[in-house]
Order: sequence, then structure tokens, then C-alpha cells
Amino acid sequence: MKASQFYIPMRKNVDNSLIKSHQFLLRAGMIHAIGAGLYAWLPLGWRILRKIENVIAKYHDKLFSRTCMPIMHPEKLWIESGRRNSYGKETLCAVDRHEKVLIYGPSAEEVVVDCVRNYVQSAKHLPITLYNIQWKFRDEVRPRFGIMRCREFLMCDGYSFHISKEKSQKFYYQVLETYLEMFQAINLNVIPIHQNDTGEIGGDLSHEFFVRAQTGEDEIEFDEKWLADKNLTEILNMKNHDKKQQSRAIEIGHIFCLNTVYSKPMKLKATLSDNTQQNVYMGCYGVGVSRLLGAMIEIFAEQNKIVWPKGIEPFQIAVVNASYDSKNVCEKCEKIYGMLLQKYESDVYYDDRKLSISEKKVQLSLMGVPKLIIIGDKELQNEKFTYIDNSTKLRMEITDSELFNLI
Ligand code: ATP
Ligand code: MG
Repeated sequence: MKASQFYIPMRKNVDNSLIKSHQFLLRAGMIHAIGAGLYAWLPLGWRILRKIENVIAKYHDKLFSRTCMPIMHPEKLWIESGRRNSYGKETLCAVDRHEKVLIYGPSAEEVVVDCVRNYVQSAKHLPITLYNIQWKFRDEVRPRFGIMRCREFLMCDGYSFHISKEKSQKFYYQVLETYLEMFQAINLNVIPIHQNDTGEIGGDLSHEFFVRAQTGEDEIEFDEKWLADKNLTEILNMKNHDKKQQSRAIEIGHIFCLNTVYSKPMKLKATLSDNTQQNVYMGCYGVGVSRLLGAMIEIFAEQNKIVWPKGIEPFQIAVVNASYDSKNVCEKCEKIYGMLLQKYESDVYYDDRKLSISEKKVQLSLMGVPKLIIIGDKELQNEKFTYIDNSTKLRMEITDSELFNLI
């Protein structure tokens, strides 16, 4: 991507009373506020969001099949499940031309149950495990903290259907373990906490996943042993929860064993071998994909730069043209950019704009591009480029061939 073609409306002055991630997202031109709790994802924010989504999808693909559920849900499904009355004012509704009420989905239990209930006849049709990554809407009473508590946000939601409570719980713990691996893969030191109150979604076994951050909305208590030694037995024991440490924290995910809370009212049943009918056992698993992006900024951003977890960087490497008036430098930059594209595909950024080198470096730090190759008149004369690795703070003068061995 050439910087001259990339819309990145950076802002110097943002309200410093905003939460750190909100300030950063505005300064770096990642989002634009459209209305209360409503944000447009601009090219930089969108790229990073996609990277997070890809990691989340990779781990969900191990256990679930990906689907895409509709954003708008017919009210009649919600009346069937009983959520129409219980969900309250966070539900946003629209009325269509036939006077039918549609609900903008805050999660998708009802539509997923509807997708499987005509197919499932007997135990041999189970298990079914589905997920989707889709925009959700919750008419939050007080949208705040930018993308952390907004009204429209991206969520990854998984749903499982099993014939027995035991099988459903076994899968639940598989998801729990996979979530631990997934959060580890993006450098997040996550703390799963068992919840007794499962709220509007229902069920009787639930864990919330938190990351520690001063700006978090929640106050958690956790066993400090957890940070050193993570295994499933620890989690199971955490119900009694030798709670020793307290911290502010951000909730990034929430999983539930739902039992038959939805399958009973929505008549999702399977016939067993003895010809009796049994309500299907369900689980649901949610990760706040867009909130994760904000959480990463809260945790990893410094004053003027961010070091994204590996694989989440908007671009892996940038070619920085330090002498944009020189034809030779421009040609050299284009050549190196072309070669890098072959290796990094769309993950290369070429800053070809008529801006000072210092301004370019400031912007690339704010964007969180980890590797820079600086090419200007001086570099061309010396036949050496300046290579900077922001994550390891390495800075070297290197030749053409050294560059390609290094990256
Ligand atoms: P919270 O307690 O923060 O309101 P929740 O318990 O209502 O969260 P869930 O219904 O479990 O959330 O949704 C799954 C995930 O979606 C949450 O863990 C969170 O990461 C994300 N999420 C929920 N509400 C919002 C929101 N208003 N804005 C951004 N992300 C959200
Ligand atoms: Mg909520």
C-alpha cells in the first residue's frame, strides 16, 4: 500500500480526557465518530481489526464451522425464546413495511437455534458447532470509552449443540482451553473467572475472560498463581478462587454452558436410541473482537507508539522515502517496495509522500509498523540503507543483499 493512496486522517489534538485507546484511535486516524457509540472504521483501524479477526477465526476453526448469521432478527424468534421480554432496553428494534418487528442482534442464539432445529432429529445429528464474526448492536444506556463500550461492535460468537450435559460441558472446557491458547497467541495475559450470575443469556456454568488494565471497567479478584501456571485444572479449581490479587480489568470474552435454556422454549429436541425425546444442550461463546483492539492499545501503547502483538501489525514493514524529490531515490524505493511485496504481499507500506522524514517516522510509530527501511540520497550514495526494527530497537546500516537476508 502506498501512503499517498491510503486515507489516514491523523489528528494532533484530541480531547485528553478520553480513555487512552480512544485518544490513540483518533490520533492515528483509525476510527471516526459518527454518533453516540457509533464509529466508522477507517483504513488503518479496519486493517488491524481484520488481523485480529483472522487470529480469532483461526482458533475457532479448530472447533467450529464458520457461518454468517443475519444482523436483523425477526422478533417472533425472540418471543419464542423468552428474550423479548427479558433483554430490555439494550434491544434496538425496527419495523419493516409489513409492520413486522425486527431486532438488531446483540447476539445470535435464536437465529442459530432456528438454523439447526429442523435438521436435528436424532442424537446422530449431533454435535453441531457453529460460529460467526458479525456486527452486533446493543443500545447501551451510556456508550463510553470509544470502541470499548459502543453500540455497534464486532463480536465473534460460537454456539454448540450436544446430546448430553456431559458432552456439552466437555466441549465447553475445550473452548476454554482454546481461548487460552488464542489469547496467548496475541500476547494477552488473560484471566478466566468463573461467574455464578449468567445474566440475560442464561445457563449455569460461565467464565469471563479479563485482561488487566488500569482503565478497565471491572474490578477483578484473582489468584496470582494463575499468572505463572496456566492449566485447565487450575481453572476448575478457581471456582473456590483463593482470590489474592485485585486489579482493574477489561472483559474481552464470555462463555456459557446454556443447558436447555434456549432449546426448551424453542423446541430443539433429538430422539435418543430408546425413542425418548431430549432437549439439546447448548453452549455459547463470545469474544469482543473490536473491544480487543481497544484493549491491545490500553495494554501495549506507549506515549507515541504502539507495539502490536505479532501478526496484528497493520503492515509488517515500511519503505520510507527520505528524498522524495530525487528521481533515483524514488526509483530505488519503488524497486525495493516491489521486491518486498513478493515476500510480504499486502503487508508492505511505502511512504511515498512529500513529508519530512521525521514526520514519517512519527506517523509510522503511531501506526505501529515494526520494521522500517529508510532510503534517501545519503543512503543511495553510501549504497547502504537504514534499517530500523521498532520492536527490538535495532538500527543498522545495511546493503541490498544484507537487507534481503535480514527480512
Ligand atoms: P459487558 O459486561 O462489558 O457489558 P457483556 O457481558 O454484556 O459485556 P457478552 O454478552 O458476554 O458481554 O458479549 C461478549 C463480548 O462482547 C464481551 O466479552 C465484550 O468483549 C464484547 N462486548 C459486549 N458489549 C460490548 C460493547 N457495548 N462494546 C464493545 N464490545 C462489547
Ligand atoms: Mg453488556
